Amino acid sequence: MKSNTLAALAVVSTPQQVHYNTEAIQAMDTAHYLHPFTNFKALANRGAQVIVEAQDIYLWDSQGKRILDGMAGLWCVNVGYGRKSISDAVYTQMQQLPFYNSFFNTTNIPAVELAKALVEISPPQFKHVFFTGSGSEANDTNLRMVRRYWDLLGYSERHVIISRHNAYHGSTVAGASLGGMSAMHAQGSLPIPGIVHIGQPYYLEGGKGLTQDEFGLKAASWLEDKILEVGADQVAAFIAEPLQGAGGVIIPPATYWPEIQRICSKYDILLIVDEVICGFGRVGCWFGSEHFEIKADLMTFAKGVTSGYLPLGGVMVGDKVAQVLIEKGGDFNHGFTYSGHPVACAAALENIRILREEKIIEQVRDETGPYLKQGFDSLLDHPLVGMVDTCGFLAALVLVKEKAENIFDMQMFPKDLGVGQICRDHMFKHGMIMRAVGNRMIVSPPLTMTIAQIDEMIALIRFCLDETLADLQ
Ligand code: PLP
Repeated sequence: MKSNTLAALAVVSTPQQVHYNTEAIQAMDTAHYLHPFTNFKALANRGAQVIVEAQDIYLWDSQGKRILDGMAGLWCVNVGYGRKSISDAVYTQMQQLPFYNSFFNTTNIPAVELAKALVEISPPQFKHVFFTGSGSEANDTNLRMVRRYWDLLGYSERHVIISRHNAYHGSTVAGASLGGMSAMHAQGSLPIPGIVHIGQPYYLEGGKGLTQDEFGLKAASWLEDKILEVGADQVAAFIAEPLQGAGGVIIPPATYWPEIQRICSKYDILLIVDEVICGFGRVGCWFGSEHFEIKADLMTFAKGVTSGYLPLGGVMVGDKVAQVLIEKGGDFNHGFTYSGHPVACAAALENIRILREEKIIEQVRDETGPYLKQGFDSLLDHPLVGMVDTCGFLAALVLVKEKAENIFDMQMFPKDLGVGQICRDHMFKHGMIMRAVGNRMIVSPPLTMTIAQIDEMIALIRFCLDETLADLQ
């Protein structure tokens, strides 16, 4: 047995049989590490769970506890953990060329090969890519690109970008402004000027008295209302996720996207689709755009492009925008040290090879995705589960106080009870990671999850729902 540098105390059994001193790690963590999206003081009091190893769909913590990762890390480990061929590709590339930038008329082979591979799997209007280090940086890039596009065409006044409440587009200043998270806007005087928001297509929230289809059209009409309010000649673009991930796996009605597309065309507004979560197989095709039949001008990606093994993001640039930037643009004064990082690109290439050769996306589309839906639907008999939404390998259930025939008559738990957090804590305690967004409990598992593992996950969720129910009574 090996011993970690933070000397071993507890008896543990992680696959690599390493002993960890959890308390020492937690104390050091609290002393020096400010975590993202975290209440620092509350975390210092409880101590972070220390994740030390991962294989397939499972994580292990420093006390040897096995955890089923229902969130694929942070919606990203699409090919599952422990892929030796990705670490081999990274190791080889590290030795050959660990870094060089793509500024000043230079390039590197993995970045070129990845650009070609991305064009092959993207919708046909995309033949160019701009690389970034993350999804947030990619959305910052979108903002700069669409404004530059309109400048070059002589319409500098077209600078406003329309987004949606409860959207998530990242955490940089532009990313958080493009997003529609009120808790983020409340810190740091966001959104920045030139970004406005419309309502989200969440049927349960705004659809009372309407069919799903009617509500889809209504929610899309808010875009037209906003364009007219701002002035069509001021609007540069509309940005949206195919379905809202971090907002709680909110799946728009079928009528929503065709109507959004029609409105964008009518007013010549660029359409930016943020595929950071939906991309790379998550909804049973390479991109959510295929599922919802969206024809966007720009497409944000990150996360699943490397299955999270290394940081990488980017923007697929459609022909309409690329042509103007290339032919008329001169210097585009934007980019990052790590744009086209050769090692991250090598990881992405191997990740895409795995997705292709193991036919993982087809499996999600034809077999495991429908089975996951069946599993979630089976939870509808639980007294706490009022509604279930699924799309590919994304699923959400709505926790309710009292069910009713009509979803709009269901009794919800008071917000300040934090029912989602109560449920999430039970999940954690019993070795299951599920995310809580208000009263919506969501999963986004590795796409490699098998039928037997889906059964295991559904059984765990049911058990933890029982525990939550007992807690609330
Ligand atoms: N866009 C969407 C739709 C996301 O879900 C996220 C992250 O969750 C981002 C952008 C930001 O990506 P990153 O965290 O890599 O900056």
